[in-house]
Amino acid sequence: MLKPFAHRLIAVLVIAPVLSVLALSAFAGDYPDYTPDSNHTRDQVPDVYKWDLTPLFASVADWEKALEKLSGEVERIESYKGKLSNPKAMAECLDLYFDLHNRATHVQQYAALALETNSTDQEKQARHQRALALIDDVMNAAGFMRGEILALDDDAMEKAYAAPNGPAEYRRYLDDLRRRRSRVLHPEAERVLQLAGDNLWAEIDLNEIQSSVELAFGALLSDITWPMVHDEEGNEVRLALSNYPVFRRSPNREVRAEAVSAFFGTLREFQHVFAQTLAGQFELDVFYARARGYDTAIEAYMDKDNLDTAVHDNLLGTVNDNLKPLHRYVELRKKVMGLDDLHIYDLYVPMVEAAEIEMPYEEAERTLPEALTPLGVEYVTVLKEGLELENGWIDLYPSSDKEAGAFCATVYGRHPYVKMNYQNSADDLSTLAHEFGHALHSYMSMENQPYQDFRYVPFLAEIASTCNEALLQDYLVANAKSKEEKIGLLVSELETIRTTIYRQTLFTEFERVVHGYVEDGTPITARLLDDTYRGLVERYYGPGFTVDEDDGMEWAYIPHFYYKYYVYTYATGLSCGLAIAEKVKAEGEPAVEDYFTMLEGGCSKPPLELLEGAGVDLTKPQAIESALKRFDRTITELAELLEVDV
Ligand SMILES: [Zn+2]
Repeated sequence: MLKPFAHRLIAVLVIAPVLSVLALSAFAGDYPDYTPDSNHTRDQVPDVYKWDLTPLFASVADWEKALEKLSGEVERIESYKGKLSNPKAMAECLDLYFDLHNRATHVQQYAALALETNSTDQEKQARHQRALALIDDVMNAAGFMRGEILALDDDAMEKAYAAPNGPAEYRRYLDDLRRRRSRVLHPEAERVLQLAGDNLWAEIDLNEIQSSVELAFGALLSDITWPMVHDEEGNEVRLALSNYPVFRRSPNREVRAEAVSAFFGTLREFQHVFAQTLAGQFELDVFYARARGYDTAIEAYMDKDNLDTAVHDNLLGTVNDNLKPLHRYVELRKKVMGLDDLHIYDLYVPMVEAAEIEMPYEEAERTLPEALTPLGVEYVTVLKEGLELENGWIDLYPSSDKEAGAFCATVYGRHPYVKMNYQNSADDLSTLAHEFGHALHSYMSMENQPYQDFRYVPFLAEIASTCNEALLQDYLVANAKSKEEKIGLLVSELETIRTTIYRQTLFTEFERVVHGYVEDGTPITARLLDDTYRGLVERYYGPGFTVDEDDGMEWAYIPHFYYKYYVYTYATGLSCGLAIAEKVKAEGEPAVEDYFTMLEGGCSKPPLELLEGAGVDLTKPQAIESALKRFDRTITELAELLEVDV
């Protein structure tokens, strides 16, 4: 995962000479004995396993000083109000804005990372709140800039770029800001749209802006009393959102069938409310789009990120043209599990019991650079520096007050920070590969771009992470010590592709089709949503799959449908990551160079152009096809190992 806040707020500053600092420590792998335990307090974890926040601020006192100084400077930006038609004033205003933004981000990240590992510490919570308020102040004080910059005509902008001391170095940023200039309405209309919660100009990730219907959806989910079901020992237990995934993957078929049926059946009881919250969200999406003159919501939300709707069309078209491998997968599951019919509740239990692979950190630290060797010496050198715990990039182990999950956070001019909850499993190694994909993407973009152009867009965010995972997977399969180990790896690869490409594309298609109903004026009812979803499940999983009475209700609890055309990026991200990994392995250095051009590019060019530089055109089928061919090949390989015929 990518910490969204870390990426939507960026920061300037001179790039620290990271490598030379890092070169000082050379004790790789020589770490104190420690067994990770999520019940331990943070004090029980040796310091070497914790990240080092001193490159951000040497102490809390220094942080306080920086915050105070910055608070006093924020209003300076308002002195440029009404003056941006002057090129020199515009350039100076942008210098100041990005400087404030960068420093505020340093302040905020320090507070956020400190809170992450001590989440109930009230002083840290308070510091984080103050840092967020500071960022808000910067954004509010700079609010006039957009209006003034958009008000200038193209001629005036060209003159400004050409002027000595003008804003030429901000051209990419300014052109992108002005790209949708024709969508801006009369000031009164803009004011009304603002009041109505318009999000098409939001600077933060849209999935973080919740509409009131989304909040109602969340409230409904948490208000539901889920029924009692039986666990594996036959005890009656209350079903909950938190234990549902556990029941769903139970090796005991009766347990998982009962849980899934109880879950969907309960959603059914609230189907009309769920239908109305979802309809409310989609109506809002269409309203914001139409208010700005787009015909459809998809056009508006893709345009927001400077993407073509062809990317969306291509994903849906290509996945639909390549459903055969998913149908084969259903057959494989049936044969391996010895089932005559396969239901939704049979999809999440591991096909075969996988052998647990122990992966202590020292071994991960050795394995990952070897696995990523195809990316070249330069990449691996930075990777090794980051993996070396003394260098303070990583917060490795869980503790009682540390937030769950993993992410990578970046502050411009400093090294990336990687949060893990490492517990010595093979999955943890994959997570490490994933997060270091983000870390090196950020590192390379920071090294090569000025502050205003370094932040890569969410659409490109999951490519480096999944490319690393794919290279690691290939390495582990090639070096598997036993047949069982290889089987386990192939099974988990199939699961990743099924759930990330096929399943998320199914969601994407549902989202697109239902927005289409709203755009056509078709009334949204629970029945229509149920039929639509069920139809997609039948088509995607194919004739060999059994769809039960309430399976069509699954749409009701999927939060991604409230994220305004976001879910497709999971599928495109993994497809690109896999495609690039294959290219790198097949073509070697030229493919690596192309790939690095994208990683180093930050947001200096439109996202599709950066991606094309890496050799992937997402308006055409190849990358997605190549990912789904890999899925198909893996099915064949696994079937051979398991000696079944599909
Ligand atoms: Zn990620």
